[in-house]
Amino acid sequence: MSDVPCHKSLYLPSECEIIAVTDLTPGEKLFRVRRTDGAPLGHLPGQFVQVSLLGWGEAPISVASSPTRGGVFELGVRRVGSLTCAMHLLSAGDTLGIRGPFGRPFDLPRLHGQDLLLISGGCGLAPMRSLIQYCEDRPNEFGRISILYGAKSPAYTLFKDELAAWEASARFACTLTVDSSPGGECYGGSVGLITSLIPPLTFVPDNTVAVIVGPPAMYRAVIAELKRKGLPSDRIVVSLERQMRCGVGKCGHCTIEHLYCCQDGPVFRLDEIENLRGAL
Ligand SMILES: Cc1cc2nc3c(=O)[nH]c(=O)nc-3n(C[C@H](O)[C@H](O)[C@H](O)COP(=O)(O)OP(=O)(O)OC[C@H]3O[C@@H](n4cnc5c(N)ncnc54)[C@H](O)[C@@H]3O)c2cc1C
Repeated sequence: MSDVPCHKSLYLPSECEIIAVTDLTPGEKLFRVRRTDGAPLGHLPGQFVQVSLLGWGEAPISVASSPTRGGVFELGVRRVGSLTCAMHLLSAGDTLGIRGPFGRPFDLPRLHGQDLLLISGGCGLAPMRSLIQYCEDRPNEFGRISILYGAKSPAYTLFKDELAAWEASARFACTLTVDSSPGGECYGGSVGLITSLIPPLTFVPDNTVAVIVGPPAMYRAVIAELKRKGLPSDRIVVSLERQMRCGVGKCGHCTIEHLYCCQDGPVFRLDEIENLRGAL
């Protein structure tokens, strides 16, 4: 896993083959991918790749699978614009360009031995899944693990089968909520914003780290709730959502004061960024 492959150029994509495409929700698909040269991706949970298709452009996409799961990797992709709409038309056997992995991963040594609150919203479950799988595969390295996930609606809940397995597993405490459950959808879970799941939590702040991945409105509200519960800023980790172009600290599209979100992040400890203008 630490054998990060030596890439020819930061700017030159490697060819990767799609092995399988699965529908996650009406707007999101999961792509199972491998490099055609057989080399492992060499990522850690929390990192992203720059995915490209000739004629359609390039976009950062988080790796949704753990490096502990072998040489193939997975990408959960929401259809929003040029590249992602073109990706949704692809199937097994088609190829993609991949640069990376890039970005600062979750600080796994810092998480070792800690109780974890893994809190994600919407598409944020994709990168969080990489960390959850890693925790599943290294069961002795972490304390109690609570998974909190909020989706827009039951239909837009990602990784439903895995969420059900995590809910059933003794390894995890897993709580789900949806913003709303329109009539007709079969759903027995809780309805409300993800922030409503935090006040009932019990945790020891000195031995707990919260990891948050989701859209800005979600992580701002979750951070406020966690601080209200007494969790200090150096125990809150957030993966920031930013527009990025190059992914390697050159173009400057993702800067936050002196930091490049693509290289210094996207994963930050809250105490590193909370006083920077425009960070949150
Ligand atoms: C570190 C990181 C990790 C990420 N991980 C993931 C992930 O795992 N999965 C995922 O799905 N996304 C992820 N994203 C987000 C993804 O990179 C963006 O959604 C990206 O812009 C998609 O590229 P695109 O070419 O499909 O969209 P673009 O064409 O760039 O469009 C992006 C947005 O702009 C709007 N838009 C496009 N064209 C126009 C126009 N002409 N007028 C008005 N609005 C327009 C689109 O509706 C869309 O909302 C991540 C982003 C970052 C920074």
